[in-house]
Parts: sequence; structure tokens; C-alpha cells
Amino acid sequence: MISGNGLNLARMKHLNRDVIFRLLREYQQTTRTALVRLSGLSKATVSEIVETFLREGFIREVGKQQPARGRSQVILEFDPMARLVLGAQLVGSTCTVVLADLTAQPRHRSSRLMRGMTPEDFVEAICAGIEELRPLADVPILGVGVGTPTSVDPAGRRVTLSVPYGWRDVPLANLIEDRLALPTLIANRAKVAALGEVWQGAHDETDNLLYVYVGNGIMAGLVLNGSLYFGSSGTAGELGHMTVLPDGPLCGCGNHGCLHTLASESAIVHRARSRVREAEGRTYLAERTDGVLGEITLPLVLEAAAAGDQVALETLTEAATYLGIALANVINLVNPRIVVVGGPTASIGEAFLEPVRHEVRRRALGDALHDLAIVPSVLGDDAGAIGAAALVLENLETIPGAVTGSDHLLRVPTATSHVAS
Ligand SMILES: [Zn+2]
Repeated sequence: MISGNGLNLARMKHLNRDVIFRLLREYQQTTRTALVRLSGLSKATVSEIVETFLREGFIREVGKQQPARGRSQVILEFDPMARLVLGAQLVGSTCTVVLADLTAQPRHRSSRLMRGMTPEDFVEAICAGIEELRPLADVPILGVGVGTPTSVDPAGRRVTLSVPYGWRDVPLANLIEDRLALPTLIANRAKVAALGEVWQGAHDETDNLLYVYVGNGIMAGLVLNGSLYFGSSGTAGELGHMTVLPDGPLCGCGNHGCLHTLASESAIVHRARSRVREAEGRTYLAERTDGVLGEITLPLVLEAAAAGDQVALETLTEAATYLGIALANVINLVNPRIVVVGGPTASIGEAFLEPVRHEVRRRALGDALHDLAIVPSVLGDDAGAIGAAALVLENLETIPGAVTGSDHLLRVPTATSHVAS
């Protein structure tokens, strides 16, 4: 707030609006008196900001409340549908877009397969999804969040690297902004999924949550003390490359015994094929593939496990045990309240989660386990898209005009006419 030239009043006004906006959204119904108490701001400042929000339609007055003492107070109600945001994600070759309200609740959804696997195909799929949903919005859209299965620069503008997709240094946010004229922010999909679980997951309110995606890769997203954690160069959350078996298989990163080599989709499929080969007698997987072991896939392993097949269950338990070892280390380090496990492997539920919990209980410190819950994702496949919408909502102060006052207009061409001036 203190700039080189002294106090920056515009910046301060902006921060005050952000504080009040967050309180209105959190409490849904409140009063000016409560906002003064909760924010620590002066009565005059709160009144001025409330008037602006009333004018812009973010809140409305919905009656009066009579306290035990003193004058009756007008109840202010937050309207989550006053503005909308878009969230997009890529899983495999499927691009999903949601149109969400100001609490990140998805109101509309669109999903499509990408034509190819280049960054241009991804931009094309996101834009097609957004063009489909945009006409459904009758209020301004504030921006677009994108969850990518890649590394992303700390500013949330560029894909820095994706080994499986073969992408390197792609200015994804610029490409989308050029096409849609909507402010855009990008982040790794597991990171935004963690935000999605905090904003919309069916968990007790928590400020400390660890989300783990277990699929073709293994990535974590951390919300610590209420904020998404990126690390100094944006790479925090690379759980797949934590060493869990010192002399284990060689990983693509050059290390041996990374969690990725023991619990990712390819690792599970590889182990299932070996086990079927070693197993004596007929097994579920051998029968389903007529003995062609190359046809064993993760969905088939999950199907076999659900049918009670021992080979599949042992394979999943082994992978879950390694995941539990990795998680026990992370839990000791950051002490989350909730660990949410998502991705295709976790979709089977307790057959995978229970051995994870068992291993965590064996290894993590008692105090860290005291209040800990390890649960499946309730948002499922959409966690990243919902979280990408939440990413925009967490960063509204970076979007010109979103909640900074009527002296700025949104950059959104179709939205400017809706903004009170
Ligand atoms: Zn590795």
C-alpha cells in the first residue's frame, strides 16, 4: 500500500473493496454493522463500498433485522449470479468448460474431445466450449481460468512444459485472450482442483487441503492457510517424483523409485500384466483379454478389482501403499486437515483409499493424524474445471473492473454494457 510516492489511495480503495467483497460472499447475508465489525474498516468506508455494490447488483437489500439493542439494520444479501466466470480443464484428450457463479458453483457445462493434441487444438477446444456457453450468460463474464496437465509459469500466463503432450513454452493465456477478449489465467490442473475442492467440495470448511490426482501422472495441489501454494518457481506439487523406493524402477525424470513409477496408470497396468503372467490358473484379466496381456488397461484393472479379482486388488493395494508412503511424508511436512484423492485410479473408491489410509496411519505422526480425513473427490472429473473458475474468483483483483469500482469497465466487450457506470 505504501508506494515510492507515498500512500497509494487508489490501491487502498481497491483492497478495501476486495475485503468487503470476500465478506459478502462468505456470509451471504449480513449487515453494514457486521461488515464494519468484521472488516475493521470505518463506517463511512463500508457504507460507500456497500452503495457501489448495491448499484452494481452484487448485493440487494432484503428486509430488516432487529437487534436486541439499538436500531434495526438492513439485511444485505449477496447475489452469486451477479457475475459469472468460466473454468476449463484438459484431461487426456477431453476438454471440459463450466460456466460458474461467484461461488464457483457450475451452472452450465460443456465437454468435447480435442481434434489433435497440439496447443492449438487445446485453444480451439476451449474456445468452442466457451462459445457454446457464452450465450447462456445474461450477466457479465469476468474471466476464464484454465487447468492444464502441464507446468505453468508463476504468473499464470504460459505453459512452460508438458512431457506427455510435447508442449514447451506456450503462451496459452495470450492465445485465449486474443481469441475471446476475456481475461485469462492458467494453472496446473491438480493445483486448481485443490481450489475447486475448497470452494465446492463436500468437506467441512478448511483452509488446509491437499488434493492428489492419481492417473497417467500423479500431481498434488496444496491449499495452505486458505491460499493456493505455488512455490518459488511454480512447481510445487510434483508428488509423482517423490522417491518412495530408493532402488526402484528408473523414472523418466532420471531418478529411481519415483512414486510415478509405482502408482501411476502405466505402473499399475505394467504390474497387472506381470502378475497375470505369473499367476497360476485362469484369472479375470486373462479371461477378459483372451490371454493377450497387452490389452490390459487401467479401466479393465478397475473393473476386475470391482468384481473382486485378487490379482487386480493386489495390484491396486500395492500402488495405494506407495501412495500412502508419499502422503505420510507430505502430511508430516504440511499438516493438512483434508486429503482429497481424485483421478481415474481413485474412482474405484475404498478398494484404493483404504490401503492408502492404512499406510498413512502406519507412518505419519500421531498429531498430524489427529484431525485428518482422507476422502475421495466429490467433484470427480470436473474438479479441475470448477477449480479453474475458482482461480479467477481468487484473483478478481487482477481483473480490471471486476470488483474495483465503476470507474473501470470490464475488458469483456459483451459485458461492458451491463456494468453500471
Ligand atoms: Zn521421477
